Amino acid sequence: MSEAYVHVPAPTLGAFVIEVCVAAGATEVDGRTVADHLVTANLYGHDSHGVGMLPKYVDSIASGQLDPKAHAEIRADGAILSIDGRRGFGQVVAREGIAAGIARARSEGLALAALRNAFHIGRIGTYGEQCAAEGLVSLHFVNVVGHPPLVAPFRGSDARFSTNPFCCAIPLGPGKPPFLLDFATSVVAMGKVRVAKNKGEVMDEGLLLDHQGQPTRDPGVMFPEIRGALVAMGLHKGYGLALACELLAGAVAGGRTVQPGTPRGLGIINNMLSIIVDPQRLVPDSFLQSEIQAMIDYAKASPPADPDLPVLVPGEPERERMAERMRTGVPIDLATWDELRGAAHSLGVLLPEVQAAPRVGSAAVARGGA
Ligand code: NAD
Repeated sequence: MSEAYVHVPAPTLGAFVIEVCVAAGATEVDGRTVADHLVTANLYGHDSHGVGMLPKYVDSIASGQLDPKAHAEIRADGAILSIDGRRGFGQVVAREGIAAGIARARSEGLALAALRNAFHIGRIGTYGEQCAAEGLVSLHFVNVVGHPPLVAPFRGSDARFSTNPFCCAIPLGPGKPPFLLDFATSVVAMGKVRVAKNKGEVMDEGLLLDHQGQPTRDPGVMFPEIRGALVAMGLHKGYGLALACELLAGAVAGGRTVQPGTPRGLGIINNMLSIIVDPQRLVPDSFLQSEIQAMIDYAKASPPADPDLPVLVPGEPERERMAERMRTGVPIDLATWDELRGAAHSLGVLLPEVQAAPRVGSAAVARGGA
């Protein structure tokens, strides 16, 4: 069980990720895209989608599942874009596909960007933010293929699809952070099970099923091999949304669903169907901003059931966590830090040297390097 963390300043962590990506064959520009994405996920508190993914990426490059040099191949037909991620770094090829979608939404008012065959595209909110920064509203439906399923259907007892995230981003005007709803359709993301396993923690009730379809709190049912299943969020409704993501990204966008005829053993392959809309084609900016702000203010003014837990809007918890972690550094548990050391070592890269801080008790030092 790991009781201690290292706290790593975000720029140090980013420079380390770039170095590893470059050593693995990526350009510095692409390495920076991956690093910015992973470190932002950590800063937002989504450690499941942060630098802890890097060892998996390094392994996948070594096994030929992830091509660190690949770029998106984009075909346009009016407002519809068909994007082949060519098993490149998801952060790179999804960004390229969304950039093309943004350009199309500007000219057409609307774009449908169908990305398939990308290696893990990480935190989907990144692509919502990319659109919102350009004043565009976006919806993103994602599925995952290439490895065995992870999530049980409502009323089922074993895994039949993956954690299929959904994202909706709405810009709130210049200088304001967007409304950013971004979640896995399982009760928890798989990466959070990995983080709990690495920390030696048990999970809350209602998140996991064991190999017999019975409720369990042991994250070990999903690692190192999958013997159990994650539970879909929101009973039949969450399961329905998960399946909608599967069908939209896997069938409509052309990336394939996780049905048994689709090849496994390819790593983490994401497909994403994104709808990008220029809201100014529908309503004036002034109306949009004042209407959204009025509604958000109204929702947030609801008296909290617990005075210590005020009403928030999606995107707020991440921004709060980011402000804190920019001050304290990104906490990384020592099991994850060791995995990063191993991945870096395999490429001749040294870990940054940082102090380890125990959760309780006195400080220890985690040595960097191999
Ligand atoms: P989560 O359960 O933490 O939910 C996050 C969402 O809920 C955010 O929009 C957040 O702002 C909002 N939220 C949280 N607390 C709130 C509150 N009190 N009031 C209002 N809104 C609140 O996220 P998750 O399901 O663990 O997903 C984590 C990340 O994993 C996401 O970024 C997701 O895109 C990513 N993911 C990626 C893949 C993939 O295949 N690439 C798969 C699954 C998940």
